[in-house]
Amino acid sequence: MEAWRFLSSMTNGKRVRLVQGQAHLDSYGRILAYVYDPEGRMLNFQMVEKGLAHVLYLYPDVQAFEKLLGAQRQALKNKQGKWRNFKWEQGPFVGNHRTKRFHRPDCSSAQTINSKHSVLLKNEREALWEGYAPCRQCLSFAKKKS
Ligand SMILES: [Zn+2]
Repeated sequence: MEAWRFLSSMTNGKRVRLVQGQAHLDSYGRILAYVYDPEGRMLNFQMVEKGLAHVLYLYPDVQAFEKLLGAQRQALKNKQGKWRNFKWEQGPFVGNHRTKRFHRPDCSSAQTINSKHSVLLKNEREALWEGYAPCRQCLSFAKKKS
């Protein structure tokens, strides 16, 4: 909930600007957007930088991906936010280079990855470092507490 508190404090009572790409909602019905405060700061970037969120690659809305990944690497290196006491799971994991998601090898989605796009990742940290986001079916990552 630290992430939610931060976002509330940054946006409470302020007008924010949402910039959406082609995908407006994710498969869970959540709004996908870059959020800017009145000073023009991208809140997504600040959340990743503080280790409160991880980068999610969603083609074709990937204009800020490299920038956000840079912030994520800094946060990982400095053990910011949820990375401070994060319990990294050992792999190996299977990454899909095209969608930038990673899975346990026995996940049904992992088994359908075209071998051209399949990448072996030795642990979760390496996956995050390379910009892969955890599969919500086979990894409990998203529910993990910091
Ligand atoms: Zn999976």
